[in-house]
Amino acid sequence: MLSNDLITIKGKILLLVCCAPCCAGAVDFIAKHKLDITLFFYNPNIYPEEEYIKRKNEVIRLAKLYNISFIDTDYTPTDYQKVTTGLGSCPERGERCFICFSLRLLKTAIYARDNGFDYFTSTLGFSRWKDLNQVDTAGFNVEKKTNVPYLDVNWRKGGIQDRARQVIKENSIYEQNYCGCIYSFKNKK
Ligand code: SF4
Repeated sequence: MLSNDLITIKGKILLLVCCAPCCAGAVDFIAKHKLDITLFFYNPNIYPEEEYIKRKNEVIRLAKLYNISFIDTDYTPTDYQKVTTGLGSCPERGERCFICFSLRLLKTAIYARDNGFDYFTSTLGFSRWKDLNQVDTAGFNVEKKTNVPYLDVNWRKGGIQDRARQVIKENSIYEQNYCGCIYSFKNKK
């Protein structure tokens, strides 16, 4: 679905966000249309911890700038390590990434279910370096497991990417040069 379709949705939405550059356009859109969407930060994949804190603080800065609710979770890297053991050599967009998306989306859906949200979604597929179909497949699998409806929003369309670039520039948002995990950290250019 396109971001504009969110305007017609009734109910509370929990949005998993991975970093400020990937959610900048979405946050701008949410504020502009006064949508009932809360940001959720669960990213145990991020390595090292200093990077995790840096990315989280940038998302918090954006949330405050746009007056959008933000829910934090603890830094629990072992959650990620447990499910990706032995998958270090997978290429990006491979099996490890699917498991990484599934882990984070499952936590988001469970939180949504237990805390009065009607839907969950994410900005995990915002970057063109990500496989959007992989993200959505993980999301719909999680929907089946939790009975919380997943919204397959395509944040790459509807002018969101252009707006994201403006928001990043206007606010000097930190832009990392690797996806997040220790494997992508080691492979960064
Ligand atoms: S490359 Fe990115 S999506 Fe893939 S496992 Fe690492 S952090 Fe997760």
